[in-house]
Amino acid sequence: MLSPQRPQILGQRKPTPTIPHTAMAGDSRRAIGMEARRNNIVVVAAVAEVLKTSLGPKGLDKMLVDKDGIIYVSNDGSTILNKMAVDHPIAKMLVEAANAVSSEVGDGTVSTVILVGALLKNCEELLNKKIHPAILVEGYIKASEEALRLMNENAITISPKDRKALKPVAMTAMTGKLVSEDKGHLADLVVEAVLKVAEKTDDCLHVDLDNINLQKRSGGSLNETKIVEGFAFFREIAHIDMPRRVMNAKILVVKGELRLEKRGKTRHYERGIVLETPKQVSVFTDQLAETFRKIAEKIANLGANVLIVEKGIDPHLLQHLARFNILAIRRVVIEDLERIAKVVGANVVAFLDDLSPEDLGAAQLVEERKLAGQPWLFFEGCAKPKLVTIMIRSEQDYALDEAERSVIDTLHAVRNVLKKPKVVAGGGASEIEAAVKIRRWAEGLPSREQLAVNSFADTLESIPLALAENSGLNILDIQMELRSRHLRGEIGVGVDAMDGRIADMVRMKIFEPLLVKEQVIKSALETAIAILRINDYIVARKLVGSEFYEKQKEESTKPERIKKIHREYGVEGPYT
Ligand code: ADP
Ligand code: MG
Repeated sequence: MLSPQRPQILGQRKPTPTIPHTAMAGDSRRAIGMEARRNNIVVVAAVAEVLKTSLGPKGLDKMLVDKDGIIYVSNDGSTILNKMAVDHPIAKMLVEAANAVSSEVGDGTVSTVILVGALLKNCEELLNKKIHPAILVEGYIKASEEALRLMNENAITISPKDRKALKPVAMTAMTGKLVSEDKGHLADLVVEAVLKVAEKTDDCLHVDLDNINLQKRSGGSLNETKIVEGFAFFREIAHIDMPRRVMNAKILVVKGELRLEKRGKTRHYERGIVLETPKQVSVFTDQLAETFRKIAEKIANLGANVLIVEKGIDPHLLQHLARFNILAIRRVVIEDLERIAKVVGANVVAFLDDLSPEDLGAAQLVEERKLAGQPWLFFEGCAKPKLVTIMIRSEQDYALDEAERSVIDTLHAVRNVLKKPKVVAGGGASEIEAAVKIRRWAEGLPSREQLAVNSFADTLESIPLALAENSGLNILDIQMELRSRHLRGEIGVGVDAMDGRIADMVRMKIFEPLLVKEQVIKSALETAIAILRINDYIVARKLVGSEFYEKQKEESTKPERIKKIHREYGVEGPYT
């Protein structure tokens, strides 16, 4: 962050040989060396401060309102970071770090940002003592390796098929604000779902979370949430005369729409053809009906009795499909469409011209069932059966979103344990233990590196301290007590965030996957080092005129953004 009070006008600085100041436009700004680093540290500290209060089960939510007025309430690190309007390139590096952790292990985003923030803040003091960043980096790398070694050593190995051992990990990951009875129920379901889709590989159980279909719908209560094998989603059959239950289903999955082409707001036949006599009108409509009948016939002749279409289906075609006893579903979001295709073993087709029976998928049963008065469509006995659906139910939308987020975190946690069946004590216990041990280990190192290692140890402590702070505890007291009890060998002692006290995390069964801890430490270190290495910061000139509008247009039409808006407004699939 370049402070506005002290703008670096390049003309006042000695020009460097690499970028002569005359080569830079007048509105460019630049900060060099220590100043650039200090500015970057301020930015990271500001973002870390925002996220710190969201850590752990007592973490608070952030309310974010985007520029379209859509409101998000979340305590998930990557959601908050991605929604926060961060302009500063260094803050964007943090967002990337959180996203990287999230895509690797699906959890640990807040911890990562807290660690990067603490690491840089702690190293600022050392930079002030004129320790060169290269020495710091070296010390940090050594310290992190030792910390990871210690965590590995202290980790508890669990049997990946042992439901009883997996449940505590699921419970710990479920930090959302759900009542404990619901948490238990959801944790059981998640463990069940993950084990159902797990596949044995050489050395571990592999879980493709794409095989777990999460569907949420208001109505009913959270403890009515259940899992079913196969695919299910909230969907009404497109026409009243269509069958509600199809045995031995042969399923055709179509991407795009089955309608006459639409141009602007009118259909081209309404606009481009002039019909002058009643006879012409009747010939035209007859031909139209005939065209749709042929399409329906073609689908029926292929052997399909279920049709899934991404966008709209013409009402005329629906009638004909109903006559051929075909069950049709329209406006299916692309993710659901692809998942259905995968589970029933169908090829997604875009044209109806060259269909072949191999394009069809199969399921023993496709059926509409009412749950709490709402129509759900079930696909059971599918060709590729490794898919389960978790149907999340709740009265309030807020609880529904919260439950969904918790379930997603928990799915990742359980998946991570199956990938690497080792867990560490949560509540900051593993961090404190590593911190205490690496301080002792550093005593044998040269003094400058020792400073760096100690500063890394302080950084690790920021996790239990943030948990303590969020539970309303006095962090100084907690820090002293945690350190001394770990020095006495109580390696499981951490912060019991729920009850606001220090307790043995192993006894309380608060466990986290080792994989997450490893990823968090590695990513935080990489990001902090990348930021430390920057010693020159140049703000490029402003975009002018059309350049600016081009950039703005590019931003606002990003497909992910449009898709999100559609979903938030409850629009399923593109408009018809
Ligand atoms: P992140 O985005 O980093 O995963 P979370 O908000 O999920 O952040 O918090 C994770 C932290 O909360 C971990 O350090 C974990 O050990 C801790 N934690 C979870 N449940 C408890 C609990 N009941 N008591 C103490 N700490 C807990
Ligand atoms: Mg978490």
